[in-house]
Amino acid sequence: MSEETVTPMMAQYLEIKAQHQGAILFYRMGDFYEMFFDDAVAAAEALDIALTKRGKHRGEDIAMCGVPVHSSEGYLLALIRKGFRVAIAEQMEDPAEAKKRGSKSVVKRDVVRLVTPGTLTEDSLLEARRHNFLCAFAEVRDEAALAWCDISTGEMRVMGCSLTRLAPELARLAPREVLVAEGRDLHALVEEAGAALTEMARASFDSGSAEKRLCTLYGVGTLEAFGAFGRAEISAMGALVDYLDLTQRGKLPLLRPPIREVVGGTMQIDASTRRNLEITQALSGGREGSLLSAVDRTVTAPGARLLERRLSSPSRDLAVIGARLAAVRFLLEQGRLREELRGDLRRVPDMDRALSRLALDRAGPRDIAAIRAGLAQAEAISGRLPAEAPALLDDARAALRGHERLIDLLDQALVAEPPLLARDGGFIAQGFDEDLDETRRLRDEGRGVIASMQAGFVEQTGIASLKIKHNNVLGYFIEVTSTHAERMLSAPLSETFIHRQTTAGQVRFTTLPLSELETKILNAGNRALEIEKAHFAALREAVLAEAGPVGAAARALAEVDLAAGLADLAAAEDWTEPRIDDSRAFEIEGGRHPVVERALARTGTPFVANDCALTDAMTPAIWLLTGPNMAGKSTFLRQNALIALLAQAGSYVPAKRAHIGLVSQLFSRVGASDDLARGRSTFMVEMVETAAILNQADDRALVILDEIGRGTATYDGLSIAWATLEHLHDMNRCRALFATHYHEMTGLSAKLTGVENATVSVKEWEGDVIFLHEVRKGAADRSYGVQVARLAGLPASVIERAKTVLNALESGDREGGARKQALIDDLPLFRAAPPPPPVAKAKASEVEARLEGVLPDELTPMEALKLVYEMKALL
Ligand code: ADP
Repeated sequence: MSEETVTPMMAQYLEIKAQHQGAILFYRMGDFYEMFFDDAVAAAEALDIALTKRGKHRGEDIAMCGVPVHSSEGYLLALIRKGFRVAIAEQMEDPAEAKKRGSKSVVKRDVVRLVTPGTLTEDSLLEARRHNFLCAFAEVRDEAALAWCDISTGEMRVMGCSLTRLAPELARLAPREVLVAEGRDLHALVEEAGAALTEMARASFDSGSAEKRLCTLYGVGTLEAFGAFGRAEISAMGALVDYLDLTQRGKLPLLRPPIREVVGGTMQIDASTRRNLEITQALSGGREGSLLSAVDRTVTAPGARLLERRLSSPSRDLAVIGARLAAVRFLLEQGRLREELRGDLRRVPDMDRALSRLALDRAGPRDIAAIRAGLAQAEAISGRLPAEAPALLDDARAALRGHERLIDLLDQALVAEPPLLARDGGFIAQGFDEDLDETRRLRDEGRGVIASMQAGFVEQTGIASLKIKHNNVLGYFIEVTSTHAERMLSAPLSETFIHRQTTAGQVRFTTLPLSELETKILNAGNRALEIEKAHFAALREAVLAEAGPVGAAARALAEVDLAAGLADLAAAEDWTEPRIDDSRAFEIEGGRHPVVERALARTGTPFVANDCALTDAMTPAIWLLTGPNMAGKSTFLRQNALIALLAQAGSYVPAKRAHIGLVSQLFSRVGASDDLARGRSTFMVEMVETAAILNQADDRALVILDEIGRGTATYDGLSIAWATLEHLHDMNRCRALFATHYHEMTGLSAKLTGVENATVSVKEWEGDVIFLHEVRKGAADRSYGVQVARLAGLPASVIERAKTVLNALESGDREGGARKQALIDDLPLFRAAPPPPPVAKAKASEVEARLEGVLPDELTPMEALKLVYEMKALL
């Protein structure tokens, strides 16, 4: 077929599609979004929906699939989750308008929004308790910066960020989407962070136009009002705004003025430490099992998001930490007040997200109702907060009040439980607008008249089952079953009843008075809708005019929720307030691991609390922890890291007493074999990560190394662990906990002043090992590997054999006495074991010969059993 045969609709489709190559185009046709060509093929597969055809294009069938508009959000979400982006092309005029222009004319359509992972606003597309960050990374000459925003809450931040810092920052923010300049190949890095990468033209990053864009957005003459930003920072923020403009099609979300984060402001935690400590995500991938889920007692979604931010970015500012802790202490002491506040907070909806939908004109009446409910609770909460509260709560109290005017307006305007969509009306309250009330009365009276009209028709026709019904195609109509058709269609009834439609079982009619009445009802109904829509627009304006104070109230509510949640946690779990200062202390008394303790509690097992004392007097201060597998070394290491993290996030900590000198960086590494799932050369990864620590840790760092060197041969591993510890001690001079199963290393404490030995004690009882999970000073006497193996269910014969080999090796050591020989102590037992004693050769060969011809896959269980008997007989 030639080009001329492209239908006008298809021509329009292709034109729109050409501008949105990278996205699946949702092309609105009536009640459906249709997809064509490759989009259809991809979407049908991703969504598991039927792929059909619609006409031909240049001789080829056009593949097509579609989703109903009313249920499109679910499909959108599925596509976004699978890494697609979606351009939504709506009908921009009534199809009737298009017809007026001529029969060939197509309805005007345009893309109204580009849906991408980083630009979602709908509750159904977002996780309530998580942020949805969009990042932009910009480089200008020798500066680089990272900016991020969450358009569903209006948050916007920026920081100087070199390429080497990019990975840890992305790990902290866990963004959904990252913008980079065209040609900047950062795919691997961005994907590692679990985000989608979007390339943008270099022009979008131009810092000159970026500045103009930002000034326009914030309505200021210069950005200096918000801080002194570098060129790269401006460029990154400008790219964000440009992308929002592009995806939201000119409707910009409400963004709060940018906040500049300083690199030194938060505890630095790199990606693998985050993963390893399972801060916001468990290693299994979900939130369950993470520190976040163990400590989250917030009752609002914004509170939960704030907690996630705090745990992801613990502070390094003593004043900030102190203020947060003071609020928690206050609410811990005031138990009644806390309970009352939490009761009020439970009724607080997600105002941030409602506000952002209002700004993007994507809101419904329930969003306005959410603002009403949120502000009303805000007033109540501010009333509860006493005048002499700590500063953080005092500030919240101020932000929570002063919204009476808006609350009054919304109270009068909105019904108690408004519908989801503005489209169908019914959300403006009775008594708010006389004109609206009058119009509604006309409409409703009309409906009453219809009921009496039906009674009249029943009487007139003698058909008791006659009904007046309504649908969108016919409007109001009279319906009788086909059995009465003939009577209705013949005189005298046919003079009054005008036939409209015959269906399978029914015949439908109208009458003159009915259609007149319908027009009246319709007119009144439409007018009522128009009036409501105008009110909706006005209410939206009224809320947006107060966006600043409303947003501040929403943030204050989140602060109060978080402080109350942490206080509730501290009260219920008997946590303690940490003492934090700028010393080098790390003294924990009776520390516990919040996640392991929770898991053990489910099985009724008590958690054994442990002390850790890296004393202030000693710099560096390193504990070298030895002890058998399963004794609790990893748990102890991690619990101390988590206690430091919780303390600087402004929370109480799971301990009896904690004194922590500010921690600048937190590092945690696990020996390779725990990390197999990641599928790379794991030993290499372990070494790269260890190198990162040794190169970066400063003397305020807290380093946790668990079985470093385990991923290679024993001597290699031991040497690496040895040298690593020396480097931490001599060069990094930091605080560290170092778990190892190389007992040889315990000798280091005699040589290095900052190193102390500690061990997790076990008891041996009748040949079994009993784990006490108690950490105490000193070195482990031996490794108990064989006993642990027995607990794990290794066959008794193997255990016996292993014991013999171990004895042999140990006595060999004593006799040899050489240092090198001593290192064999902890050799993997089975590799070092002498070959098993030969079985009588001839018999072994008979068994071998018998086995040679056997194809195990083809044996039935019975045959296999018989074979075993047979071979046993051969021995
Ligand atoms: P290791 O690192 O020494 O092999 P883990 O730290 O992995 O040992 O601990 C093994 C198991 O022992 C944990 O899963 C936990 O159930 C239990 N455990 C560890 N520490 C404690 C403790 N302090 N109190 C009670 N049980 C503990």
